[in-house]
Amino acid sequence: MTRPLEAIASFNIWMEPWITVERPGGVARCGIEHALLHAHEYIAIYDPSPLVVAGIHRLLTAVLQAALDPQRRADLRKLLAAGCFPPTQIAAFGKQFARRFDLFSPAEPFMQSADLSPYPAKGDKVKTVAYLAQDIPSGTEITHYRHGSDDACVLCPACAAAGLVMIPAFATSGGAGIKPSINGVPPIYVLPGGTSLFESLALSLLTPDYQPRAASDKRDDTWWLRKPLVQKGKEVRDVSYLHSLTFPARRVRLHPERLTANCSRCGRATEWGVRTMVFEMGESRSKDAAVWTDPFAAYRITGNKPPTPIRPQEGKATWREFSGLFLQDAQPATAVSKKQVTMQRPGVLNQMADYGLAGDVRAFPFRCVGLRTDMKAKVFEWLDAGFDVPPKLLADVPSGLVVRNAIAFATTCAGAIGTVFRSAFGGNVKNQERFAVLKSRMQDGYWSSLAEPFRQFVLAIGEPADAESTRRAWIDTVVQQARAAFLETSEAVGDDAVALRERVRAEVHCNNLLNKLKRVELGGETK
Ligand SMILES: [Zn+2]
Repeated sequence: MTRPLEAIASFNIWMEPWITVERPGGVARCGIEHALLHAHEYIAIYDPSPLVVAGIHRLLTAVLQAALDPQRRADLRKLLAAGCFPPTQIAAFGKQFARRFDLFSPAEPFMQSADLSPYPAKGDKVKTVAYLAQDIPSGTEITHYRHGSDDACVLCPACAAAGLVMIPAFATSGGAGIKPSINGVPPIYVLPGGTSLFESLALSLLTPDYQPRAASDKRDDTWWLRKPLVQKGKEVRDVSYLHSLTFPARRVRLHPERLTANCSRCGRATEWGVRTMVFEMGESRSKDAAVWTDPFAAYRITGNKPPTPIRPQEGKATWREFSGLFLQDAQPATAVSKKQVTMQRPGVLNQMADYGLAGDVRAFPFRCVGLRTDMKAKVFEWLDAGFDVPPKLLADVPSGLVVRNAIAFATTCAGAIGTVFRSAFGGNVKNQERFAVLKSRMQDGYWSSLAEPFRQFVLAIGEPADAESTRRAWIDTVVQQARAAFLETSEAVGDDAVALRERVRAEVHCNNLLNKLKRVELGGETK
């Protein structure tokens, strides 16, 4: 099929409207330039998919990082005090690089490889564009949120752009030779919120001290600086920080067509749409390069092993990861034993705490976004959770320790009710535990009943109030909820005479154990 390239529309995401932003009283759509220039008038980026929100957040952060290039604390404080992004610097960036943001540019298509044809060409492995939208079924992936067939999938240019900007942060493994993006199996990303989109983005900018230590200063393949070519399966060693934020983990070329259709993702009528594309393995970071840690992800480090990011886990409420995601680890930096676990919160939070950037607020909002997979190609669900964190907690190690202990106590009690339940009702047959489903439902119910009390507890710890009484109140709540979850679940075991006897005995056992744990935690008794 040959058609003159001029026939292809242009859709330049620097100025064309494709980002939905929330503003007081509604939403608006805009391009990158407008979003940055008016960021102080908007509340946040909006999209039904949190992955798209995080993808756009990273792209805007990368642009601002390049345009403003803050070097020290004073630069960030000055920016925050100004209350908006400087138009001259945004315009200067646009003048130099706007051409690199055209989705359908024949020679420099945004986040695509220009050596591939913009039409399905002989020899190309053509795929459905559904692979770009994690919320539309494609290939072998699990269908969720929407049922439909791949063939029917059409994306409008705005939704195609949204799909492309998810790749650097969320590309997952996908069968033979298809590797995840620079951060491996996607971590939970922690995004600073704030009172406006401006504050959220300004607080995401990093001075060189807080950028990834493994970032290269020798080579810079940031999207708008590099040649618009992505080699299939290429391993790269030297990755700059901005290259990481725009990391082309897939070699893509969209096939735009003039058509009359409604976009399968947003439902809008579109004159230009994308049904097919080339979508194959792009760049990955070579395994022998120094460990890459993303400044928006948190890591768990066991002994002297390489850090592993905190990722969404099945059945684990995100607030249970609160200390790893938000708190500074109090562990000493001395010789670490092989099993000792230390946590490393996102670098962006270290910068906020060290520079005192969270401001004079009761609590600072963060948004956590993740994608739960089977560590391979299967995608199970999104994670999208908001947390309000008092600035005091970000900076103060002792208050952090109180929160850490609070979560540890809740975990101990979860273990206790699980053990009592298993021994009372689980039966004696090895590997054939009775009521295992009930037990796990009990645990889920217990953890979700503690989510709101935990939120209140965190806010109270940030207050100058009596920390000891806050701690005691938390211990009481945890024990109450543990007991309630146990009682409620044991009722479901049955009410014949045998079951009733078992239940009475188990309840006594459970109460005794919880009371003992409480006394120990309050300091009245040793284990
Ligand atoms: Zn659309």
